[in-house]
Amino acid sequence: MNFKRSHYLVITDPISDTIPKRMLLATRTARTLVINESLHTKLQNEDWDEMNDNDFDKLRQIEAIVPANENELQTIIGRNKAAVADGNTLYHVIQPTAMCQLGCGYCGQKHTKDYVGAASSELILERIESKFSLKNYRHVEIAWFGGEPLMAYAQIRELTPKLKALARQYNCTYSAKLVTNGLSLKEPIFLDLVQKYGVNSIEVTLDGTAEYHDARRHTKEGLSTFNLIFQNLVKIYNRSDFKELACPISIRCNVDERNNESVVPLIKLLAKHNLQDKIAYFYVAPIHAWGNDAHKLSLEKQVFAEQEIDWIVEQFKHGFTPSLLPGLNPVVCLSVTPDAEVFDAFGNVFDCTEVPYVESYEGTEYVLGNINNGLNSLSKHRTLLSFNDEIMDGKYPCTSCQMLPVCGGSCPKSWREGMAACPTNKFNIKDKLLMHYAIKKSGKEEFVAMIAD
Ligand code: SF4
Ligand code: SF4
Repeated sequence: MNFKRSHYLVITDPISDTIPKRMLLATRTARTLVINESLHTKLQNEDWDEMNDNDFDKLRQIEAIVPANENELQTIIGRNKAAVADGNTLYHVIQPTAMCQLGCGYCGQKHTKDYVGAASSELILERIESKFSLKNYRHVEIAWFGGEPLMAYAQIRELTPKLKALARQYNCTYSAKLVTNGLSLKEPIFLDLVQKYGVNSIEVTLDGTAEYHDARRHTKEGLSTFNLIFQNLVKIYNRSDFKELACPISIRCNVDERNNESVVPLIKLLAKHNLQDKIAYFYVAPIHAWGNDAHKLSLEKQVFAEQEIDWIVEQFKHGFTPSLLPGLNPVVCLSVTPDAEVFDAFGNVFDCTEVPYVESYEGTEYVLGNINNGLNSLSKHRTLLSFNDEIMDGKYPCTSCQMLPVCGGSCPKSWREGMAACPTNKFNIKDKLLMHYAIKKSGKEEFVAMIAD
């Protein structure tokens, strides 16, 4: 058989003058290998006869070397589609209220005091139940998004037993995740969410320390929120049974050019409270367009990616263990999953989470209809479902991007709206690979000593 070097490789420069080796990431398998200069040259030149069998086999195994006649893009897109088809989790997002206490400047949603009603709830359940005829599901997952979902806690309590019963009826397990601003995440509510309402993953947003967070994530009346949210989190993280409750809480820090300086102080504050091992995942996300111009204050992607490396280093220095390398990402988001839908408080149904309550998306193709007009009235056409085919057809830069298997294309809607969706890995993956090497080679403690001021 003839072979070729895979297109889906990221290879660093030599690690240093004294270490003439490189880190290789084969993104088709998300696996890494340290290669010496001689092997690197043979791989680049596709000099298979000169390569020893052991090296060749290792590179074949991680799919850094592939059959010469393989259409690799077709393979990746085929795997992505198969992952969608083979998935056995029935996933839905419910945004049970159009209300949120906060008035974040970058938010694109229009908040009103509307909550999902009894009639809409029954239709949501009916709609979800209709999906069980499509596949043999093993798990049902609900994501509670906002507005602020905890403002509709009564609706979550009302709907969850019915959702759980539905899952049981079809021999499925059940779990839920919650994305919240954290203001109402009091300890007793957290406990009930976990113990009674099946929530096993929570994400809370902190946009820096109080000074920065409160300047952007204040209440609609302009009141500060940081201290309340932080106290809620500290109480929960410090419960002696926090780990046993098995509901990890991640913290996201949304950043643009107005608060990027606040990331390091926030990391230090979290460390001062000894939360390094308790926070499931701390990450910094760029502000994106939300049917508005919020992204215009975002940092340039390259600048953000450079700063992300500093933030990762800072996390290591303060005892966090941030993940460095991406895994495979064959299912980019629910928009490419035909059975997953998003419901809002008015009964509208969408194929994307960023569309509900955003006025500029009203009447667009992302709105599949409204359940209150009858389930049969919902559109079967989902415009973002063709994303993988569009990549295959060369419509986006993802078509030729080495990161595609570990990225998936990032956000179909962004590409469709003409905005590059590339995550930071596109720009800083080589730095992350070198950091990964240093940690593997010397151990985390030695690495931290090396990067210490
Ligand atoms: S299309 Fe983009 S915004 Fe919509 S759910 Fe997917 S990733 Fe999120
Ligand atoms: S979104 Fe960017 S990084 Fe991801 S596959 Fe597409 S071009 Fe590559």
